[in-house]
Amino acid sequence: PDIITVQELANRMAARAGEVVKALFRMGVMATITQSIDADTAELVATEFGHRIRRVSEADVEQGLEGEADTEEALEPRPPVVTIMGHVDHGKTSLLDALRKTDVAGREAGGITQHIGAYMIQIPTGDRVTFIDTPGHEAFTAMRARGASVTDMVVLVVAADDGVMPQTVEAIKHAQAAQVPMIVAVNKIDKPGVNLDRVRQELLQHEVVVESLGGDVQEIQVSALKGTNLDKLLEAIILQAEILDLKANPNRAAEGTVIESKLDKGRGPVATVLVQKGTLNQGDIVVAGAEWGRVRAIIDDMGIPLTGAEPSEPVEILGLTGVPSAGETFVAVEDETRAREITEFRQRKAREKVAAAAGAARGTLNDMLA
Ligand code: GDP
Ligand code: MG
Repeated sequence: PDIITVQELANRMAARAGEVVKALFRMGVMATITQSIDADTAELVATEFGHRIRRVSEADVEQGLEGEADTEEALEPRPPVVTIMGHVDHGKTSLLDALRKTDVAGREAGGITQHIGAYMIQIPTGDRVTFIDTPGHEAFTAMRARGASVTDMVVLVVAADDGVMPQTVEAIKHAQAAQVPMIVAVNKIDKPGVNLDRVRQELLQHEVVVESLGGDVQEIQVSALKGTNLDKLLEAIILQAEILDLKANPNRAAEGTVIESKLDKGRGPVATVLVQKGTLNQGDIVVAGAEWGRVRAIIDDMGIPLTGAEPSEPVEILGLTGVPSAGETFVAVEDETRAREITEFRQRKAREKVAAAAGAARGTLNDMLA
């Protein structure tokens, strides 16, 4: 199959397209600059121009993104990434807001709390925790469908006065399917007459066995409204993180996942990303989904510009050429050529998918007409 246009091949070799056409002619291939040629022909021409060719299969293009596996010595502890889930009105947003206020990092005054869908706090012990605010379970499902695993644990919020509800059950299923541990935060314990045993029994029916019933799921009673036991919840998170022994190599090219993205009027495409490996630096060339760009700015959840972001840090990045989708992975690559190669591959794949779907639809229509 033809894989590259004469023009594109010339561009990559920094040669004149006319010279490439001539070289092809000498090889008995008649092609204009807009025509495509196959891999063997392209390789022959490239060799003639003094280039060494590295054949990249489609699988390589994707696999290459995985990079080298890290050695044990290269790994360093990283903060846990926590997702808060639960039924609507059980207090997820209130809890996220309350937890955020416990941040002791004392980051520069003047920082304005940004809503970037994720934030990192430092607790009195010096440990840091990243919280992801899933706008809805749909986003979480989309991420999982893309194979993105961003969260190390789920904090399941259950309102003590309401108990296990449909979205509580959904959240439990998500956590179980993603095989991440859960911590139950029984919220609204400030309300009169709450029945904790009933909540525990309801959870038990969905195979969530809290410690007081002999299981290994930590249960913390909190009030997001009054700020009760937030320290206990954070302790439980740190304990769970220690059990998980979370590590990543900060000294490599960055990799991670897009948490959310938007097209900002003034700033262009803005993506909130979670760095999961390596360190993302200003000026890095990154590929995010089928988009790429040079990272023009890295901004934390307080709106403060950073020069770099390490594993488990959620940051906004500016400089992409388009808006990637939530759940897509991003990687820092060596140069623009590599970035183009990967994004072109992904865009072509996406087009093929659309074409195949359209073809299937046409087929159905033809069947109907026949
Ligand atoms: P979400 O839909 O899960 O994000 O829930 P919200 O955080 O928006 O909270 C829903 C409602 O419950 C709001 O009116 C909150 O003020 C209230 N709420 C949240 N946490 C508590 C709590 O600990 N105690 C009481 N009494 N009310 C709470
Ligand atoms: Mg909410």
